[in-house]
Amino acid sequence: MVERVAVLGATGSIGESTLDLIGQHPERFEATVLTAHRQVDKMIGLAQRFKPKQIVMTDQTAADQLRGQLSQSSWARDIAVLSGAAALTEAVTEPTISMVVAGIVGAAGLPSAIAAAAAGKKILLANKEALVMAGSLFVAAAKKGQAVILPIDSEHNAIFQCLGPGYRCFHRPEGVTRLLLTASGGPFRRWDKQAIQHATVSQAIAHPNWSMGRKISVDSATMMNKGLELIEAHWLFDMPETLIDVVVHPQSVVHSMVEFADGSTLAQMGSPDMRTPIACAMRWPERMASSVAMLDWRAARTLEFEPPDDDRFPSLALARETLRLGGAASAILNAANEVAVEAFLAEMMAFGGIFQVVESTLEKLSHRSTAPESLEALLALDTEARQVATEFCQRNPA
Ligand code: NAD
Ligand code: MG
Repeated sequence: MVERVAVLGATGSIGESTLDLIGQHPERFEATVLTAHRQVDKMIGLAQRFKPKQIVMTDQTAADQLRGQLSQSSWARDIAVLSGAAALTEAVTEPTISMVVAGIVGAAGLPSAIAAAAAGKKILLANKEALVMAGSLFVAAAKKGQAVILPIDSEHNAIFQCLGPGYRCFHRPEGVTRLLLTASGGPFRRWDKQAIQHATVSQAIAHPNWSMGRKISVDSATMMNKGLELIEAHWLFDMPETLIDVVVHPQSVVHSMVEFADGSTLAQMGSPDMRTPIACAMRWPERMASSVAMLDWRAARTLEFEPPDDDRFPSLALARETLRLGGAASAILNAANEVAVEAFLAEMMAFGGIFQVVESTLEKLSHRSTAPESLEALLALDTEARQVATEFCQRNPA
C-alpha cells in the first residue's frame, strides 16, 4: 500500500532529503501534502514533480502567487493551494495522511507538530524546537493521540536505532546508563574565544560536514544546536539531563551512542547525509535503500572524540540550566535564540551577541518557573520572550 505523506517545510533542507527518498520509492510513498512559507518558485518545481493533492503556503501573498501560476498549467488542475497557519494544522490531521514529516524550522513548526501528535499520526520529527518549547505538551498530545514518534534529527535517530526495534519514544529505556550525543564542534571548534565573538555570517553558516538550513547552521556554530538537542533527547528518551553527555567528534561519522549497564556502548555510524535517518524512520523497523554513500572502511580513517569547551561555547551549559530550572525555561531559551540568530543573520548583531542575548533573556524571565498548560499560553510566553530578546539584541549592535 502506498503511504500518504505530508512534508512540512518541503522547500527546506529536510524537505528536500525527504522528497528525494519519496522520489526513489514511488511504489511505497506519495507526497500528498507539501507545505512551505513563501518559496513560490521552488514549490512550483516540487508541485510539477510530485503532483501533491494539496499545497499550503503559510504566507498569504505567496499562496496567491502560487495559485495564479499553477492555474495556467493543466497538470496542476487538481492541486489545491491553501494558505495560513490554520490550513497547515488542518492539512496534517487529514485522515488519509498517515505520515507527517515535521521539517519546518523554529517555533513556527510547533502548532502543526502538536496537531499531528494529537491526531495520532506517524511523525518523523526534525523540528527539535517543538520539543524544546513544549516538551510536556507535545509528549502529552502524542500519548493521548497514540502518535508514533520517529526521531530524524541524526543524533536522536542514532540513539533510537541503538535502543532497538522494541523501543517506543517517551519511555525511559531499560538498562541504559547514559546517552552520548556527538557534536561536530562546528566551524569554530579551533577558534579562540575573541575571534568567535566577531565571526561573520558566511563563516558561521559554512558547516564542515553537514549541509543544512541557515538557522540550524548558526546553531551548530554556537553549539546551541547541541543544547537544543540535549533538551530534545531529554524529552524523547525520558532521560534526566545528568545522564546525557555531549562528546565532540569532528568527523561526524558516529552520530551518537548509548551506554548500557553491562558495559556495552552502541554507536550508529554513517555518512553525514540526512537521507539515512529519514529513510530509517520512513520504513522502521524495516530498512530501505537511500542512495547514501557507504563509509569506506578500506580507506584509512581516524575517529576523534574530545570534551566540549563550555568556556568558548556557553550554549550547552545554558541549555542544561533550563532543564534544571524546568517549567518554561527551555521555551524562553529557544525564543531568545531564534531572535538572536535572526539578528545575527541580518548582520544587526555580532556573533558573540547570541550567547549574551540568550543568557540575559533567561535571567530577566527567570521568575517564569511554571510551564504553560496550553499551547496558547505557551505562544504568549514565546512572544514575550521574543520582545525581551529583541531589546537585548539592540544593545549588542554589530
Ligand atoms: P530550512 O531553513 O532549510 O527549511 C525550513 C522550511 O520551513 C522551509 O520549507 C520553509 O518554507 C519552512 N518555514 C520557514 N518558516 C516558516 C513559517 N513561519 N511557517 C511555515 N513554514 C515555515 O531548515 P532545515 O535545515 O530543513 O531545518 C528544518 C528543521 O529540521 C529545523 O527544526 C532543524 O533544526 C531540523 N533539523 C534539520 C537538519 C538538517 O540537516 N537540515 C538536521 C536535523 C534537524
Ligand atoms: Mg542533529
